[in-house]
Amino acid sequence: MAKDGKYRKPERREFLVPHVVARKQISPHFVRVTLGGEALKSFVPMGYDQWFRVFLPTADGVLRLPRRTNGLWVAEYLLMSKDTRPIGRNYTVRHHRTEGLYGEGPELDVDFVLHEDADGTLGPASAWARDASPGDEIGIFDEGVTFLPPPRATWHLLVGDESALPAVLGILASSPDDVPTEAYVELPDARDAQPVDTRPNTTLHWLTRPPGTPVGDTALAAVRAATLPDGPGYAWTAGGQRLATGIRRHLVTDRGFPKDAVTFTGYWR
Ligand SMILES: Cc1cc2nc3c(=O)[nH]c(=O)nc-3n(C[C@H](O)[C@H](O)[C@H](O)COP(=O)(O)OP(=O)(O)OC[C@H]3O[C@@H](n4cnc5c(N)ncnc54)[C@H](O)[C@@H]3O)c2cc1C
Repeated sequence: MAKDGKYRKPERREFLVPHVVARKQISPHFVRVTLGGEALKSFVPMGYDQWFRVFLPTADGVLRLPRRTNGLWVAEYLLMSKDTRPIGRNYTVRHHRTEGLYGEGPELDVDFVLHEDADGTLGPASAWARDASPGDEIGIFDEGVTFLPPPRATWHLLVGDESALPAVLGILASSPDDVPTEAYVELPDARDAQPVDTRPNTTLHWLTRPPGTPVGDTALAAVRAATLPDGPGYAWTAGGQRLATGIRRHLVTDRGFPKDAVTFTGYWR
């Protein structure tokens, strides 16, 4: 796989147009949309926190995508008129199956958090997932993996809010058996936790956010209070910008982590 600074990029990237084969409300705040179709035969699973851009049809129901796949696609996208430009967001591979559950061929599960705006409305991607029906098309563009531990790290720390649940569980599923890992996932509701088999050297802390508490503060407080393993560690953190930057600041300032031993990504603001 190609390595490009902050990311391990896919070798080859193209815009793919899979369609919805199933949609299920799996917990109070999560909808799982399963994508399938011929297009996914070109999708190469990389494990860990593999993420991709999603592009939604415009109000007229038409999905128009940039044609370029090199770095110029962004300029082409931005030059599209507001009426024709698809809304773009970012999501994570929850599961990839070579043989589908709902039909023949590969499938991708994507777990969408249904979060509300301050005025109670859902953002466009959340609303798309809530209303998704079999046959609905969506554009996707693979971006690869950000989880890149340095070889010197003897243990891993993973921290995220609900938007990073798919990535944290993907990293746990892909990681080698012999690396002790502490994982913290903050959720709006304890019922949003997903059943996971963890290794004996891994602890997955599901944290429930008390009502009215800003997103991320519960995870930040838990990590601040934690007794973490000794030795050189590597931390990966994602979720609301406040959480990702707060964890990085804590690890670098209070725990002496080298800056290059922390990968942090603001998933939303
Ligand atoms: C690499 C990457 C991978 C991601 N993977 C996933 C994933 O697998 N599943 C997932 O659900 N999300 C994931 N996200 C986060 C997702 O892209 C954002 O939450 C996105 O903004 C949702 O789009 P929307 O159209 O629903 O809402 P928007 O229109 O973007 O936002 C509407 C309002 O909601 C607020 N908001 C946005 N996201 C959240 C949130 N999660 N919680 C609370 N408030 C929010 C915004 O501040 C805004 O006020 C990922 C982000 C990145 C960068």
